[in-house]
Amino acid sequence: MTTKLTSKIKSEKPSKVDLKGLKTRTRKIIQLLKRAYPDAKCSLNYSNAFELLIATILSAQCTDERVNIVTADLFRKYRKPEDYLKVSESELQNDIRTTGFFRNKTRSIQGAAKVLTEHYSGRVPETIEELLELPGVARKTANVVMGNAFGVASGVVVDTHVTRLSRRLGLTQQKDPVKIENDLIDIVPKSDWVIFSHLLIAHGRKICKARNPLCAECVVEKQCPSSYLKTGVIPGS
Ligand code: SF4
Repeated sequence: MTTKLTSKIKSEKPSKVDLKGLKTRTRKIIQLLKRAYPDAKCSLNYSNAFELLIATILSAQCTDERVNIVTADLFRKYRKPEDYLKVSESELQNDIRTTGFFRNKTRSIQGAAKVLTEHYSGRVPETIEELLELPGVARKTANVVMGNAFGVASGVVVDTHVTRLSRRLGLTQQKDPVKIENDLIDIVPKSDWVIFSHLLIAHGRKICKARNPLCAECVVEKQCPSSYLKTGVIPGS
């Protein structure tokens, strides 16, 4: 997978000198976060690539905790893509209702299951290009599956935590997830693309919360331009 995933998208890129400093600061942040969260990993429960694909589709606008509750029963009832095609839309909607946006998610899951059954003999394809062709699968889901199920760094997963922390840490000025990812792949070493989002998500949940981030307890405070210890303004307030 090319690292220039959005060559058509123009973003405000730092100069070469700034980029070098930004890369150094990013490496320092990663090092500190690795020390703080040595066990950071995907918090969705799954036992194969297909289950991770379904769990990630369900995780849109929903907590991983809630998704894990729903998939505990769901993965017992539906084991293969074709199982999702044997039930009516309304039955699947009921099974995933508590994850929210259940109508859209049902369409995505049954659409993806149909393509996997008809074109991939029920297997999940192992390239990001093929994953992105599946209904309801955008870059975040494709990157989660590639990185966690197949161990391939295809990009950086950008969710709400990664968006918030990357912006607060001054790693990007962008708001659009694809543009944020484009900025991050320029400054995060490729070997850390997968762990990077797990680290930011862990830190976002525990310390750099959306409201009232705990800057005084933050291990990357010295590297952070948004710290209220420096600015006097609480980020997100
Ligand atoms: S210093 Fe504050 S704003 Fe910056 S990363 Fe830490 S908790 Fe978040």
